[in-house]
Amino acid sequence: MVNFSLTPRQKELREIAMDYATAVAEPIAIESDQMPEVDKSFNWDLVREASKRGLRTLSIPERFGGEGADVLTLAMCGECIAYGDLGVAVGFDQTWKIMTAIANLCNEEQQNRWIPRIMEDDEFLLGIPVTEPLAGSDNLLPYDAPGSGVQMLAKKKGDKWLLNGTKRYISNGGLAKMYYVLARTDPDGPLSTSLTGFLVPSDLPGFSVPEVWDKMGQRAVQNGTLVFEDVEIRDRDRVGEVGASLPAVGALLLGFGSNIQAGATVLGVAQRAYDLSHQYAHERIQGGKPIIEHDIQRKRLVRMAMKLQATRSYLWYAGWNCKQEDFDRKHASMSKVFASEESLAVCVEALELWGATGYMKKNPIEKLLRDAISFLHSDGTNDVLSLKAATFMAQQRLEKTDKRYSNRVAEAAAGQ
Ligand SMILES: Cc1cc2nc3c(=O)[nH]c(=O)nc-3n(C[C@H](O)[C@H](O)[C@H](O)COP(=O)(O)OP(=O)(O)OC[C@H]3O[C@@H](n4cnc5c(N)ncnc54)[C@H](O)[C@@H]3O)c2cc1C
Repeated sequence: MVNFSLTPRQKELREIAMDYATAVAEPIAIESDQMPEVDKSFNWDLVREASKRGLRTLSIPERFGGEGADVLTLAMCGECIAYGDLGVAVGFDQTWKIMTAIANLCNEEQQNRWIPRIMEDDEFLLGIPVTEPLAGSDNLLPYDAPGSGVQMLAKKKGDKWLLNGTKRYISNGGLAKMYYVLARTDPDGPLSTSLTGFLVPSDLPGFSVPEVWDKMGQRAVQNGTLVFEDVEIRDRDRVGEVGASLPAVGALLLGFGSNIQAGATVLGVAQRAYDLSHQYAHERIQGGKPIIEHDIQRKRLVRMAMKLQATRSYLWYAGWNCKQEDFDRKHASMSKVFASEESLAVCVEALELWGATGYMKKNPIEKLLRDAISFLHSDGTNDVLSLKAATFMAQQRLEKTDKRYSNRVAEAAAGQ
């Protein structure tokens, strides 16, 4: 049965997130967006206030005092926070999904040691450094030739590991108190047998953030270059078996909600662009009447509304799907690709509806457009996620015994 009704708690959480977005996130983020010094623009009040409202800890399991929210609920809340600002939403969304990974991939001892600290510290954010200067998409598809992909090396030294290497573009880089770092434990092996995860607190000697990237949008969150020089990690902070973490990256993107939640945040931006455009169309008068009374603009708003609703329905379906036993993984990547493309299209429509006024920095649409475009690349490029989905799709085929199997297609394919 198809059921789109939300639980009372989901409704409540959406309200909490929406109130935070409009009352707290948006006004602060507008200031951050205009600040030229990117490494100084982050405002910790955003995190403290979200902690107070229970938003930062949404994905922490209930047994540790968190909300225990599932992917669908996180997607809904991420959309609401991004309605206020995408960068702010990304900061929390990263924390939520890495927390979900910790709850699923870490052993009991690690969970008992780390999760209470994350829960109790109102400023505890998390980050996941995978991307490196010479290895971006090669970690996500992945390119499995010997020695390819992640170059950061983790070398065993007694009961410790020494981490050396550089990660870049990392969301919450320089803000997070702990990172789930992916390093290679075999310098020459293929990624599928060489990648190992570590929990790395940010106060360890040898760790530094030499650069915070100046970027087009998402300016209320930091993206850093992280340098690790002989950073010593205890073996008890290794996540999973040595060399077996590549599936964890796949699980994070697909089953643990990364792609779906990413898609939902960019949808929040598009929803804001639509609402502002709807208001503007009522209040802006040209041709002797509000522009919403001109058919071409009314139709534009209808097109925008259709894209929003179709995107939301797909993301909610994908959020439901990833909890099913026969989870169809392609929908995780495909829903992010769809959401980012459609959301960007909605923002472009908004810019057209607003005319030159939309292009001016004093008005909100140009920021929304700059923010929305980031998700063509963030959380995996759309090209690469489409290729990932295509791989899953190619693995699915109709068997001859299937009711839908067509003999005529088989004959045609055989040239008959
Ligand atoms: C706002 C933002 C936040 C980010 N946050 C994080 C983060 O928190 N953690 C993290 O680890 N990374 C993060 N990233 C990095 C992001 O995941 C990478 O940018 C992405 O994986 C692509 O890597 P790349 O930029 O090196 O591009 P490349 O991999 O160099 O790709 C360049 C182009 O080639 C295409 N391409 C690559 N491989 C193939 C192929 N096999 N076949 C066809 N086309 C291909 C790509 O689609 C792209 O068009 C973030 C990026 C952004 C923009």
